[in-house]
Amino acid sequence: MASDEASGAPADWLIKFLKQEYEKFKKTKYTAPVAIGITAVIYYLMLAYMMGSCWLGLLPPLILFGLFWNFDVKRVRKLLVYGFIGCTLLLAISTAFLVSAFQSLEPQTAFSSDPDNTLYDGIVTPMNGDSSTLFTYSVTVRPANETFNITEVRVTIAWIGDSTNESMTLADSNETSGEYFYEYRTTLSEPYNAFEFAANVSGTWIVATDYTDDGDEMIAIGPISSDSVDLGIWVLRHITLIQSYLQFFPIYAIICGMVWWTRRARRMREKAIQEWEQKRKKIEAKPPEDDSRSPSLARAIGLEEEPDSFVCSECGADVPSDAKSCPSCGEKFN
Ligand SMILES: [Zn+2]
Repeated sequence: MASDEASGAPADWLIKFLKQEYEKFKKTKYTAPVAIGITAVIYYLMLAYMMGSCWLGLLPPLILFGLFWNFDVKRVRKLLVYGFIGCTLLLAISTAFLVSAFQSLEPQTAFSSDPDNTLYDGIVTPMNGDSSTLFTYSVTVRPANETFNITEVRVTIAWIGDSTNESMTLADSNETSGEYFYEYRTTLSEPYNAFEFAANVSGTWIVATDYTDDGDEMIAIGPISSDSVDLGIWVLRHITLIQSYLQFFPIYAIICGMVWWTRRARRMREKAIQEWEQKRKKIEAKPPEDDSRSPSLARAIGLEEEPDSFVCSECGADVPSDAKSCPSCGEKFN
């Protein structure tokens, strides 16, 4: 007799059980922390596997809002506060992630793109150090022609907002191979730097730099500070603060604004319809001048089921039309 039930029972039971547990969970105070936590994990995985994707800037606030909404966190003020906390956690995650990613960057080598490869092995050592470290920039110049004149070799050291251009000194040479080794030593105060070289060989400037996969010139990165706090503050100031509070949170706040506006618009519309209905009833109460009944506006647009209630713009609850405040969240109405 119960054979039909038995075949589908375990799966049905599991789904029912999970639904019950989910409903129970939605009534707890852990919904917001869990939503923020899930978003944080997804964001970390995106940073690890989707770096450079445009979704990285758009998905986190959408995921955060979607989770809150599914967990029944629907009050606009709560959504805004939790959203701000969530965006701050994303800020901490991206800062820590970038500090670690920058500090583990492989040393980069600059070279010239001329057919003779005149400049090569352009490096800075060490790749990581702090403000007291003496960094050595070095590059090898090997002119293609037998007769040549290296008048100057320079290094450009760049950081966000500024750069310096220094003359390098001949440190060594190998007459048989025709190689000339140039060096420049300095300490650096910025935690994130980039570099390239230029040599004037027989009156022509030749640049040594790094390149993108498409072959475009791209300044070589390094050195990077080994002081995580220093580098962290730099990442905050130049990358993650802007991303979290001028990108993630505004996208998130716009969604909250749309929810609030939609609820408000619906409330205004329902209010207007009620006023129309009342006016119509007054007119109908008078002795009719002709027999034709005016059709109900509410019936016409399908709002007649609940004509004497509206939606709270703050929490989305149904509120009786004569209520002065929301019975669900306490929001006052005029
Ligand atoms: Zn409410």
